[in-house]
Amino acid sequence: MNAEPGDGARMAAGIASLAAHERAQQSAARLDADRAAARPAPPEIANRPGRAERQAAESARCPFCKAAPGQHCTAAGQRVMSKPHPGRLDAYAVKAAICPECVAGVGDGCRGPNGLRIDGVHPGRLQSALLGWLP
Ligand SMILES: [Zn+2]
Ligand SMILES: [Zn+2]
Repeated sequence: MNAEPGDGARMAAGIASLAAHERAQQSAARLDADRAAARPAPPEIANRPGRAERQAAESARCPFCKAAPGQHCTAAGQRVMSKPHPGRLDAYAVKAAICPECVAGVGDGCRGPNGLRIDGVHPGRLQSALLGWLP
């Protein structure tokens, strides 16, 4: 495999954006007062951070409304929802990744310290299931 010439630049951009993130956190406290007055972001911007989650969730069948893979969730069997049912992403994570936290295998639900099934999945499992969907 040849290394892509853009790798170095991309890494530098990643480091720069991390530094920017830290600066943003430091100034966050000062911005609190401003934020109260800020207008909410338009939906197309507000939804952007959830894009990977949405695509990942919609690659699986929804256990709640039974939407087929690739189809949007529907409410009451007909109205298309703006976001997939929350449990759909969990169902995808169960099928797509083992859990690094409770060591549940692919297809097995997450378990708590008492050995009983938990609602949803551990955050680490969700994260590893989403890796392939992040830009
Ligand atoms: Zn659904
Ligand atoms: Zn787990």
